[in-house]
Amino acid sequence: MLQIINPATGRPMEELDEDTPETLRRKAEMARRHQPAWAERPVAERVECGRRFGELLAAEKDGLAATLTSEMGKPLQQSINELNAMAARIGFFVDNTEAAVRDEVVQRGDDGAEERIRWEPLGVVANISAWNYPYFVGSNVFLPALLTGNAVLYKPSEFATLTGLAIADLLYRAGVPREVFATVVGGGPVGAALLEQKIDGVFFTGSYGTGRKIAEAVAGRLIRVQLELGGKDPAYICDDVDPVGAAAAAAEGAFYNAGQSCCAVERVYVHRAIVREFTDAFADAVRGYRVGDPMEEGTFVGPLARKQQIAVLQEQVDDAVRRGATLLCGGKPIDGDGYYYQPTVLANVTHEMKIMRDESFGPVIGIMEAGDDDEAVRLMNDTEYGLTAAVYTPDRERAERVLKRLDAGTVYWNCCDRVSPRMPWTGRRHSGIGSTLGTIGIRAFVQPKSWHFNPACPV
Ligand code: NAD
Repeated sequence: MLQIINPATGRPMEELDEDTPETLRRKAEMARRHQPAWAERPVAERVECGRRFGELLAAEKDGLAATLTSEMGKPLQQSINELNAMAARIGFFVDNTEAAVRDEVVQRGDDGAEERIRWEPLGVVANISAWNYPYFVGSNVFLPALLTGNAVLYKPSEFATLTGLAIADLLYRAGVPREVFATVVGGGPVGAALLEQKIDGVFFTGSYGTGRKIAEAVAGRLIRVQLELGGKDPAYICDDVDPVGAAAAAAEGAFYNAGQSCCAVERVYVHRAIVREFTDAFADAVRGYRVGDPMEEGTFVGPLARKQQIAVLQEQVDDAVRRGATLLCGGKPIDGDGYYYQPTVLANVTHEMKIMRDESFGPVIGIMEAGDDDEAVRLMNDTEYGLTAAVYTPDRERAERVLKRLDAGTVYWNCCDRVSPRMPWTGRRHSGIGSTLGTIGIRAFVQPKSWHFNPACPV
């Protein structure tokens, strides 16, 4: 049984039956049998299901937000924000799928000979998902997969399963046949068992450690593998900004969703000329955050979704302090029910400390001084991850000079912790393989077939 626990109280909410090898086999076989008929339907019909899914989701937003908050702890307003932002994401797929998979004639001769590319679905794909933004990261995969004619075996995270089941219900009511979209319930072992089914691709969102296991598990089968993994995303604050305004922006990028965003700011570098003012303002902003019940209006930092992450954060903070960091605020779990950790800011950190190397995925951050732009670039690139990086300066040319040299899939000038459905979302090195979103993220779910037509038949 899978126990669903409310992280704000630590109390169980519900128990669900987990999938077994037998139920998985049945779901995979059903998907395999029905996928060709789904793929045969005109793309416009499948796109229409996506549009209706968006309408239902918008209409039922309040209940869905409450479910999400109760099972993973993000403040209710942040759950509502995620659901509101789904309109643009769904809209992107609805508006662009037909064009992305349209035939392409690449050559046509006077003799009628033709070279044409047609896009075909992969078949049955597994979508193993994370809990931190379950609507975003799930829909990056299952929507374009379904709209391009695939069947999907969708395993929501064990920390967002009620949301996963709600998504399935919305999709069915939007017209997606149950036979081509199955929800898989369970934790890591169930995910591992899902990979043993006959699948044509696996699309994963989660940590580097699990992503690596998944890549290894399916390596011999040479199926499509796409991994959206963690980050240790840096922000660099130049000396020509208002330190107080920049501190507020960077702090929000670090602490929104209790720091549990793949593209949360996880390291801050500040030009030496303003480091003191910036750091003071940053710590002040963080001290001002309201921490507490995620259902209560005005809460900005809720509990962590996973109890075990408290020990990870504590180890990073203790390691930093032991090695000479200055603790400006926080530094401990919050006593009482629920999985709360104090918003924590550390200054005078170095790259010898875990806090500047390992993903934190929680409300803790290190701030480090950089002597100049070159040093900032060197420090920002000193990581195994490569998801996003941000620079704050009024000078666009300066920003571009810095951002060009960074080895990351997404770069930001005067913004951070932001995803656009119109652009590829892609990590480098330990942050992943492949892209979702954008046209590339639709094409991820199809494969080309090259057609050579020659009307000159020897008869
Ligand atoms: P996780 O790796 O613990 O779990 C992700 C999913 O994998 C879950 O559904 C889990 O049940 C499943 N799983 C675990 N072990 C498995 C195995 N051996 N085989 C198959 N499936 C298995 O990650 P999480 O805690 O859910 O998510 C947090 C991580 O996700 C962070 O590292 C975060 O940065 C990353 N993330 C990345 C993006 C992105 O777009 N790059 C987005 C969101 C989250």
